[in-house]
Amino acid sequence: MFEELKNAVVLITGGTRGIGRAVAQRFKEVGAKVYITGTSQEKTLKVAEELGVSGFKMDVSDREEVKKRVAEIVEVEGRIDVLVNNAGITKDSLFIRMKDEDWDRVVEVNLNGVYNVSRAVVPVMVKKRKGVIINISSVVGFTGNVGQVNYSATKSALIGFTKSLAKELGGRGIRVNCVAPGYITTDMTKKIPEKIKSELIKSIPLRREGEPKEVADACLFLASDMASYITGTTLHVNGGLF
Ligand code: NDP
Repeated sequence: MFEELKNAVVLITGGTRGIGRAVAQRFKEVGAKVYITGTSQEKTLKVAEELGVSGFKMDVSDREEVKKRVAEIVEVEGRIDVLVNNAGITKDSLFIRMKDEDWDRVVEVNLNGVYNVSRAVVPVMVKKRKGVIINISSVVGFTGNVGQVNYSATKSALIGFTKSLAKELGGRGIRVNCVAPGYITTDMTKKIPEKIKSELIKSIPLRREGEPKEVADACLFLASDMASYITGTTLHVNGGLF
């Protein structure tokens, strides 16, 4: 199973923790050549070593750094087969109190970051007439959420980004899809107060938070030949929440 992903070159942004780390682990298990990125060179190298993959600092909001790093992978591997745009941040507050810098930073990382990395990788995939792009959106991109106007706006934007790019690249053998996780146990959701979390869990039909591995499995499916006729869509991994 997943023979087609053996030796595939897979770039995962934000692979140091949480969902990205689980995605890296899952692709590594099926024999892919995995590259992870993070915001610190030292930490990313440490995690890469633990996982047995390659890694380096690449701040997705830094367009020049992204171009350089992607070029380095292409120089070594000659191609990038799968891109998982996973890096993302929250800077939550009620809209009325939202600081301009918190709006800007979330857009820079969650939306411009996806543009920057995709813009660098797509020409490489087009040349090979082959590739898969998976963008990590969120359930709140569909439902909205109090305190997350900035975050949910970026996650909704990824849906339009994905649908449009899928239309442009379908004829070049490249599939583009989103995975929209619900509430997954990571550092990001650790910030949610316990009381709110237990209320939230009551509203999830499967009555629990999801595990990063469950999102990773969805990414593996979308990258595999099992999803060969799937593009421009969103796979919801949220325990039935939406
Ligand atoms: P974590 O906070 O656990 O991890 C975030 C990852 O993104 C880290 O590897 C971090 O690297 C990296 N990152 C942050 N900023 C940048 C940047 N500027 N450049 C490069 N890498 C960066 O988050 P999750 O694993 O929970 O989330 C992963 C993705 O899933 C995000 O896009 C998030 O929005 C989405 N998501 C998560 C949900 C959840 O419930 N957890 C639900 C729905 C969507 P470093 O370690 O260096 O900081």
